[in-house]
Amino acid sequence: MKQSKFALKIKREIPKDADSKNAAFLVSGGYVNKLMAGVYSYLPLGYLVLKNLEEIIRQEMQAIGGQELLLPALAPKENWQQTGRWQDLDILYKFKVANGKEIALNPTHEEIITPLAKSMISSYKDLPLYLFQIQNKFRNEIRAKSGLLRGREFIMKDLYSFHLDDQDLDQYYDKVIGAYKKIFKRSGIGRETVLAFASGGSFSKYSHEFQTLAESGEDLIYLCPKCQVAVNREIIDEVKNCPNCNSNDLEEKKSIEVGNIFKLKTKYSQAFNLSITDRHGDQKTVVMGCYGIGLSRLLATIVEIIATEKKIVWPTEVAPFSVHLISINQDQISEEIYLKLTKQKIKVIFDDRDATPGEKFSDADFIGSPIRIIISTKSITAGGAEVTEVSSGRSKIVPLDKITGLDSLKN
Ligand code: ATP
Ligand code: MG
Repeated sequence: MKQSKFALKIKREIPKDADSKNAAFLVSGGYVNKLMAGVYSYLPLGYLVLKNLEEIIRQEMQAIGGQELLLPALAPKENWQQTGRWQDLDILYKFKVANGKEIALNPTHEEIITPLAKSMISSYKDLPLYLFQIQNKFRNEIRAKSGLLRGREFIMKDLYSFHLDDQDLDQYYDKVIGAYKKIFKRSGIGRETVLAFASGGSFSKYSHEFQTLAESGEDLIYLCPKCQVAVNREIIDEVKNCPNCNSNDLEEKKSIEVGNIFKLKTKYSQAFNLSITDRHGDQKTVVMGCYGIGLSRLLATIVEIIATEKKIVWPTEVAPFSVHLISINQDQISEEIYLKLTKQKIKVIFDDRDATPGEKFSDADFIGSPIRIIISTKSITAGGAEVTEVSSGRSKIVPLDKITGLDSLKN
């Protein structure tokens, strides 16, 4: 991508209504645009990052057998009445359509996928089944806040699993924990993200949250520093010790909930009468689990953890561009290198604009490519291009004909 053609306007100054670091950075960096409280547009730069997160999540879901589908955002009132959540769920957007019928904008999809699964599952041979989607959710949050951390319209990956019995659910649930750990590691927040025990609701003893330690988080967890396992604020009065090693030496930490997983057991399958005939010919209610990750919240969390208000270095797999090629009065040579890099399918953004070096560098800080290549009269005199690994600040001069061979660019 040539920066002169890229639909990107970096504002540099922090918007006045930014209520968080992620909002300040993502809006001024030209990643997103705020339409109203809790509702954002993803601009081309932000959408590249979002797509990368989507791809990481998709790969890890597929690796544990997940099959992707796409469910609608709208649903009839009846589906939500069936579980009582038309009344009970305060964040549910409800409205009347032209013919006077009432409908909902889905905040989650148990009420849609459970009856749908009846058309896909009829015998024990159809189980287990793992279905996921990446889709917009709508929640009438009383206070949409903290930029993309708490939106009214946001993007979620939701996986639903269907099993013959509790034992099969338990095994799969542990596999999902493994997949989630990989997702957060690949997203660059693996070290800061811990598993927290939370309330299981009416149907299970515990659910689990993936909580990223951050001062800007609105959650409180009690972390065992030895096991890196935590207990959520909701259940700390009941569970006073580390669920892993039983230590009572827990530290209070602020955190952001990036993921949440539940053993739903038969809560929804009972409501919708989702049952199968088992191998002995008996009718059995299907056992379910559900597993969410907020992609928009994950994006914001990465920013909260690794950005300053004007600078980020994206984790390799998340970066909108792997390489930022900057020409300082060396447009012709830079153009040749740019063509070579694109030919090799390296994700490169080429700053070919007529701008000062200072402007180019400060914009590059916002775009956050992990590798920066500068071609200037100075670098040519020194023997080639100056290649910098931005996270460590390590630079070296690489001869022009060796640049496309650099291993560090291949991501
Ligand atoms: P919270 O406790 O933060 O309100 P939740 O427990 O209601 O979230 P779930 O229904 O389990 O969340 O949704 C799964 C995931 O979706 C959450 O772990 C979070 O990452 C994300 N998420 C939930 N609500 C929002 C929101 N309003 N904006 C952005 N992401 C959200
Ligand atoms: Mg929660």
